[in-house]
Amino acid sequence: MEREIICEIRCLNCKKWFRSPIQFGDAESFFGSTLINNKAKCPFCKVMTGIDKENMRFDERREDGRATHTEGKDAV
Ligand SMILES: [Zn+2]
Repeated sequence: MEREIICEIRCLNCKKWFRSPIQFGDAESFFGSTLINNKAKCPFCKVMTGIDKENMRFDERREDGRATHTEGKDAV
């Protein structure tokens, strides 16, 4: 079954979401992995922000049109 996972990061400076330069096969593999010292440059404010599970989310689009959404526990 084909699935598209879009991984987004929330900039810790301007609080906007942008597409992660690092894509994971699925949310399970991401949450099962450990990210250390990963940073991404925010396209809005150009500040390097840390990539952490706390400020990431996934949009998972399935063929049947259903989407699941996973967000960090402090996400607004
Ligand atoms: Zn920013």
